[in-house]
Amino acid sequence: MVPLFNVKNQHLKTNFIKFKSNMQPLKYLAGYSSDIQDQVQSLIDQDKLGQFLLKRHPEIHAIRTDKALYDYTIDIKNQYLRKSQPLSKVIFDDKISLSHQALGLHSYVARKQGAKLKAKNEIRISSRLKKVPEGLLRMVVVHELAHLKEKDHNKSFYQLCCHMDGDYHQLEFELRLLLTLIDAGKNPYS
Ligand SMILES: [Zn+2]
Repeated sequence: MVPLFNVKNQHLKTNFIKFKSNMQPLKYLAGYSSDIQDQVQSLIDQDKLGQFLLKRHPEIHAIRTDKALYDYTIDIKNQYLRKSQPLSKVIFDDKISLSHQALGLHSYVARKQGAKLKAKNEIRISSRLKKVPEGLLRMVVVHELAHLKEKDHNKSFYQLCCHMDGDYHQLEFELRLLLTLIDAGKNPYS
């Protein structure tokens, strides 16, 4: 009789699991503890992560144009950062990827003008944020506005983010959860 399981098979199985998890790392959640990553993975495995997000944020925002995004951003800026440098432009940009670093966003665009490099205050928001809940868009807008005052991701940068939105860290976590689901082909908002 052939045993169903032997040491050799066990070894293969372990390698397979390892291989599989290497193929699908929680790349947006790499900065969080392994405890949190395990909990998220378990919600994904049970197909419950989408429900979790829908409960927290039932709907997507209604900001459809660059003009509406500009107005939305200026409203927040006027409320919290009235005295900081003016913003020349706020747009959705197809070319901005959300997959790297601090969600891969850019506030400062260096423009060559004559011999001088002049920094121009533009906020470009990834087009991937066109169909997400308002809170998740707001978190990214707040992040970019904070860069008008603080270029680095230091303590005062995050204090400023939390001043503009007390839920900043939770919203960033939830945006990362949504991006994880989108990459897995399980966008709860599509
Ligand atoms: Zn940043």
